[in-house]
Amino acid sequence: MDLNTVLEVRDARDPVAWRPGDAWLAGGTYLFSEPQPRLRRLLDLSRMGWEPVVLLPDGSLEIAATCTIAQLSRFGRSLPAAAAPVIEQCCRAFLASFKIWNMATVGGNLCNALPAGPMISLTAALDGSCLLRSQDGAARRIPVADFVTGAGRNDLADGELLRSVTLPARALARRTAFRQASLHGLGRSGVLVVGTLDPLDRSVRITVTAATVRPVRLSFPLPPSAAGLRAAITRAVADDAWFDDIHGLPPWRRHMTLRLAEEIRAELSQDGAR
Ligand SMILES: Cc1cc2nc3c(=O)[nH]c(=O)nc-3n(C[C@H](O)[C@H](O)[C@H](O)COP(=O)(O)OP(=O)(O)OC[C@H]3O[C@@H](n4cnc5c(N)ncnc54)[C@H](O)[C@@H]3O)c2cc1C
Repeated sequence: MDLNTVLEVRDARDPVAWRPGDAWLAGGTYLFSEPQPRLRRLLDLSRMGWEPVVLLPDGSLEIAATCTIAQLSRFGRSLPAAAAPVIEQCCRAFLASFKIWNMATVGGNLCNALPAGPMISLTAALDGSCLLRSQDGAARRIPVADFVTGAGRNDLADGELLRSVTLPARALARRTAFRQASLHGLGRSGVLVVGTLDPLDRSVRITVTAATVRPVRLSFPLPPSAAGLRAAITRAVADDAWFDDIHGLPPWRRHMTLRLAEEIRAELSQDGAR
């Protein structure tokens, strides 16, 4: 849709002083999907020239904020890592038309901070950390699970830019299990649970997204029992932290989270599970 309060679109490579009414423009799939009466100027990131995905010498993966879902999906399909399948599973969890698939970016998905943000699910589950740059050029890192602070809320300061997300090599070597539920076929995720198992020390991590207002991460030194997992989820998610919107009521989200997490636990507990 037309954003008729926006008076200017600038290439983000041009140095300009950040001012009230500015916003970073990535793929624009959220920004142009509803009125943005607060906005006056967009700083367009599309020509930054950042390499979409880089496999670093230490085996970690640096995903540029401007990497599109299509680019990440293509890269993930050729990545020789145990965790590679979950990249494609999370890309496909997007309720995405052709346009969104090719335009929406990983950074835009994280910064939008919707509970059903599948790039949040993916990068939180694989121990991702965000590299942020402030207007004065200072850089800081923060885990993805802490970057998203609530439904539509994140830890960005005014004018701060998400530059990239890094997934460590150790997380990419973990076995993964993925479950997602929507109220209807091809609907937006109401529940998305990812489990990972470290083949070296058999530690397990369970990451709940979509069902909750922000990512919930649980770590177990060894695969938990069914009762242990259930108790840990129930303890970790306060009653008002189950997300409530048209895509699912909190009791349904809670029920499905417990059920899907148990399926993941059983899958990861089997020897040789992938
Ligand atoms: C039909 C439809 C279906 C959708 N389905 C889903 C879905 O299933 N799940 C979901 O999560 N979303 C969904 N969305 C919302 C949106 O498409 C996604 O969140 C998408 O990933 C946003 O990415 P983008 O690159 O287009 O971001 P943009 O729209 O360009 O930006 C989104 C927000 O992030 C900020 N931003 C972007 N990049 C940066 C950066 N690098 N640093 C700091 N701030 C930044 C922008 O200023 C803006 O506030 C859907 C939208 C539509 C129209």
